[in-house]
Amino acid sequence: MDVSYLLDGLNDRQRDAVSAGEQDMLVLAGAGSGKTRVLVHRIAWLIQVMNASPLSILAVTFTNKAAAEMRGRVEKLLGRDVRHMWIGTFHGLAHRLLRAHYQDAGLPQNFQIIDSDDQQRLLKRTIKALNLDDKQWPAKQAAWYINAKKDDGLRPQHIDTYDPTEKTQLQIYTAYQEACDRSGLVDFAELLLRAHELLRDNRHVREHYQRRFRHILVDEFQDTNQIQYAWVRLLAGQQNNVTIVGDDDQSIYGWRGAQVENLQHFLRDFPQAQTIRLEQNYRSTATILKAANQVIANNSDRLGKDLWTEGNDGEQISLYAAFNEQDEARYIVSQIVRWRDQGGALSDVAILYRNNAQSRVLEEGLLYASIPYRIYGGLRFFDRQEVKDAVAYLRLLSNRRDDAAFERVVNTPSRGIGERSLGLIRDYARSQQLPMWFAAQAMVNDAILSGRAKSAVAGFLDLINQLDQDCFELPLGKQTHKVLQGSGLLAMYEAEKSDKAETRVENLKELVSATETFSPTGDEDLSPLAEFLAHAALESGEEQADAHQDAVQLMTLHSAKGLEFPLVFMTGMEEGTFPSQMSVGEPGRLEEERRLCYVGMTRAMEKLILTYAESRRLYGQENFHRPSRFIAELPPESIQEVRVQTRVQQPQATRSRFHTGASHESFVQTGYQLGQRVLHQTFGEGTVLNYEGTGAQSRIQVNFDDVGSKWLMVAYAKLTPL
Ligand code: ATP
Ligand code: MG
Repeated sequence: MDVSYLLDGLNDRQRDAVSAGEQDMLVLAGAGSGKTRVLVHRIAWLIQVMNASPLSILAVTFTNKAAAEMRGRVEKLLGRDVRHMWIGTFHGLAHRLLRAHYQDAGLPQNFQIIDSDDQQRLLKRTIKALNLDDKQWPAKQAAWYINAKKDDGLRPQHIDTYDPTEKTQLQIYTAYQEACDRSGLVDFAELLLRAHELLRDNRHVREHYQRRFRHILVDEFQDTNQIQYAWVRLLAGQQNNVTIVGDDDQSIYGWRGAQVENLQHFLRDFPQAQTIRLEQNYRSTATILKAANQVIANNSDRLGKDLWTEGNDGEQISLYAAFNEQDEARYIVSQIVRWRDQGGALSDVAILYRNNAQSRVLEEGLLYASIPYRIYGGLRFFDRQEVKDAVAYLRLLSNRRDDAAFERVVNTPSRGIGERSLGLIRDYARSQQLPMWFAAQAMVNDAILSGRAKSAVAGFLDLINQLDQDCFELPLGKQTHKVLQGSGLLAMYEAEKSDKAETRVENLKELVSATETFSPTGDEDLSPLAEFLAHAALESGEEQADAHQDAVQLMTLHSAKGLEFPLVFMTGMEEGTFPSQMSVGEPGRLEEERRLCYVGMTRAMEKLILTYAESRRLYGQENFHRPSRFIAELPPESIQEVRVQTRVQQPQATRSRFHTGASHESFVQTGYQLGQRVLHQTFGEGTVLNYEGTGAQSRIQVNFDDVGSKWLMVAYAKLTPL
């Protein structure tokens, strides 16, 4: 049989890796050098040439999507299906093992997986049940402690401590684990730990899989944690072959317990392993590659890799200095329109950002221009749980008959209104043909509800009425802010303190930004709130582009790992956003941010566009930040700045440039250009940053040199152009 086609389209080093005999192997190579491609071809080679059964192969990828893709590519190479091959994420594979051997793993057959939010809720209850002060012992810290111990393979009985703080943490860990075991619940870290224990403690199970998986292959190995690595070692046993591929420069999950040292541990624990380095990059233009290499060169302690390409220089990297996030979105949309007009596919375009909340303004820009988009690995802004919660409060304020909104928020955050009381209200509403709000009101007044249920429901009704009164006549942004605070929604997510909850808090604050910048058309029949709600409903009602539609992809930098796109935008390239505020003072975390920058840049095949905003309203706050330090680390000759410089003075001493250009639109709407210098009688000189609305409604934002940024009605501001 001619199998040479399995080596077609591979360079010599890649061929060596693909066609190596039965042995352990580390493929250590930079971005876009074909590591994943080598894994795919290696699997096909094992099956086709070395007669390995697909059953004898275990392949581990970083996401489920990557697993599906890998299976598809192997099947394409082989021309047949490999349905029985085990391929998935560590968590997915651990889950599969536990389902198959639940008894040996000591789990009930119908055990349930809980996500990090569920975990925190359960911890909160556990901490309460232990009569501990949850201020002193926050659930987040407990979760962090427990997950870290589990990732290290430690059960409570393995931990010996004299430290009083840790003693209490241990007590929580013990009680939490008992609660999980009682209810058949398994958290994420538990999946891995249990599966590891299953293999370690059950000889017959272990030997079964050791006999079965002759070949173990792991992609993105630099982001494995300790227990994942222990798992690989157990399954490998003495005789199986392990191939791992990875890139220390792309290790971006250290904050979640991944340890890049596993690459070195592998070489220690598998001393026979051959190391293969791939140095040719096939993905990006020479310009992009050179720039990415130069950025990552600022990190210390690298294993060191040279990456080169035969590819063309290609276009320069564009750098766009936006006035603010709106301008940034406008520019990106305009470039995508251009790309499409020149025949480019939308699915070849990716917009990357550091934080989820940054997607909102970009989404709005795309929607406005009717460009289909898809959020990769996440929900669109107005579809996110916490945003829906908050919008439901606003809806109920605006319309007490909104039953869906009532149901959504009546017990969020928890007010002790249980499913039973809610059932009673529902029944009563149905029988009396009333909206639930009025049914609840009647049930309180007529004492149909009693005791705790009555006071809880009455408390909720009062809260909404009070909020309504307080918000009456406040501008929309302030209303939203008040509702988030008054309802307890913000506090609820703030108290949770998981990573997910942190993102939720950011999204809620971003909702405040959304309402602040929302410009109502001024329709007399509709309040600004009602108009905003219609806008939110339309945005969330609109389907995400479906899987087959040609659509732009939006995603965080983290979730872009392993992917590639002809046109890539990296947005929000500002200090404090990227690198993130939290990383700035910590060298270790800063280096991880730089690796994230390297990952982002190396997603681009043909064209990379970086954008930053001189002022950004995010999480409800206006911030001025310097351009990201990563921009300064780029080779100047590979950068093309999009805007022309002008003599206009800088309001902030820290920044060096202001540009004019794409503000024609603002001029038409307000008579002022973005970036233009103006004089105000009271506030003095300043620079125009932003505008909203049209005609008599139009407002303009000016950053005054002495008093900072202010929004003014154009009609009354009496600004003198300078
Ligand atoms: P990352 O580190 O980002 O995960 P990677 O090392 O896994 O990257 P791949 O995704 O496997 O790289 O390959 C990058 C691109 O280069 C892909 O489009 C792949 O098809 C292509 N490629 C890889 N090797 C070759 C080759 N020998 N000839 C032509 N194209 C190649
Ligand atoms: Mg890859």
